[in-house]
Amino acid sequence: MSYPDLRVKIYGSRGSYSPTVGNATSIGVNTTCFRIDIGSHVLIFDAGSGIINCGQDLVREMFAKPPAEQHWTTHLFFTHMHIDHLVGFPYFAMLYMPKSQIHFIAPRIMDYQLEEVLNTFMHPPYFPVSMQDLPFRGDYHDIAENKTVFFYEDRFEIIPAIAAAPGDWLAKITNMRNYMHPKGGSHFYRIESRSGKVVVIASDTEGFVGGDQRLVQFAKDADLLMHDAQYTPEDYGKFQGFGHSTYEMACDIAHQAGVKKLLLIHHDPKHDDEKLQTIEANARKLFPQTHLASESMEFDF
Ligand SMILES: [Zn+2]
Ligand SMILES: [Zn+2]
Repeated sequence: MSYPDLRVKIYGSRGSYSPTVGNATSIGVNTTCFRIDIGSHVLIFDAGSGIINCGQDLVREMFAKPPAEQHWTTHLFFTHMHIDHLVGFPYFAMLYMPKSQIHFIAPRIMDYQLEEVLNTFMHPPYFPVSMQDLPFRGDYHDIAENKTVFFYEDRFEIIPAIAAAPGDWLAKITNMRNYMHPKGGSHFYRIESRSGKVVVIASDTEGFVGGDQRLVQFAKDADLLMHDAQYTPEDYGKFQGFGHSTYEMACDIAHQAGVKKLLLIHHDPKHDDEKLQTIEANARKLFPQTHLASESMEFDF
């Protein structure tokens, strides 16, 4: 069986909340969830409402394979724990599959561990079923900027960032703490394949004048940069300090970092197709290789 070197699929690209039916657009209504396949490994970033379709796809894919080829292990990374990045979690189909093993990989935010947050979130009276009642097996892994995650053919490990890189890795994932998001920040991820393809996820961040130089370095020469672009420059005055960027800020980072392609993410739920297309057209004047992230969009590297 052949596997992709690096495949990215968008399951949700809205920010804050799912738009009402009136604003439902071709971009999709689900909040952030990105799937990355590397070799036989499935990595998911964030559990916004997009993770519901992602989970259903995974279960369908598993049952379509002979039992010997089914890999019931998934790796769920979190950028942070705001509700738009968590809201789909209770409906993630892999929680309900007895053979499923989920590795939760997340930084602490405001000193909360992801395990505590999920156990509180998925518990009566908020939800009828508790985490402990579910058949899947969950393993929790704390990460921070000083930890690198390496994936190999059939396993992964988390090692100190200063340690020498092992030689036989398929994928390397580094992260960067972002301070420009309220109450605890968020984390950016840089996913690098053995062949040198790079995808950077920079969700929930607000730009600086002159651009966040740490992010410019972190995203250097990426093949794909996924960057928060919730606001237009005209809207920004009303939302300054909310922890989100304009498309101009996203284009500035893409330009300075020399990335090949920019994907605008965390779309404002109030923006309909027309508004989003105007944002894309205006962004392309600043950085021609810009696209709006939309559901079921796929990139193969
Ligand atoms: Zn968000
Ligand atoms: Zn947030």
